Amino acid sequence: MPGLPVTRTVIALDEFLAGKWGADNAAVQLVVAPLAADRRFRAVRDPRVFTAVLRTVPVYAAWLDVMDPITDVFPMAGLHNTMRRLVVDGRPVATGLLAIGDSVCTTNPTLGRGLALARLAVMRHTLFGAPRPGRPRPRTG
Ligand SMILES: Cc1cc2nc3c(=O)[nH]c(=O)nc-3n(C[C@H](O)[C@H](O)[C@H](O)COP(=O)(O)OP(=O)(O)OC[C@H]3O[C@@H](n4cnc5c(N)ncnc54)[C@H](O)[C@@H]3O)c2cc1C
Repeated sequence: MPGLPVTRTVIALDEFLAGKWGADNAAVQLVVAPLAADRRFRAVRDPRVFTAVLRTVPVYAAWLDVMDPITDVFPMAGLHNTMRRLVVDGRPVATGLLAIGDSVCTTNPTLGRGLALARLAVMRHTLFGAPRPGRPRPRTG
């Protein structure tokens, strides 16, 4: 293999960003990220075009030679921040559920905040217990 499966490679090229993120079970995520306004890249949703584009970058061509696709190409757009609340009109709508991480909020992943937010929530709940209506919580930041 051209490197460890967990190796992370991100290359900013003139016309798009190419990325490879290693994951568990020898799975690897490949990314082609053009500017949203660049309509020429709409075609990369087609796996053949996606692969052809990545093959133009030698370090990714080497990986493509040893990888088998396990999914289609998924578009990832509209990277908005989102927040989900389990309280409607001041009333909890799902009691007994402790939500953390992306189930609570998502942030634009290009800014790399999601993991820190998820871990902070786990630490906070571990140190101070689950929130309960009427029980004030210490401020942690
Ligand atoms: C392309 C991309 C790049 C990112 N880059 C960064 C970065 O650089 N830095 C950063 O901090 N954050 C980044 N993020 C965000 C970060 O990955 C998330 O914020 C973080 O993984 C959220 O953790 P989580 O535990 O809430 O959810 P996840 O990590 O998504 O974990 C949820 C788990 O639940 C499993 N699951 C789902 N449904 C079921 C079910 N029914 N039964 C059992 N299991 C189930 C899933 O398989 C998954 O393993 C990125 C996200 C994306 C998509």
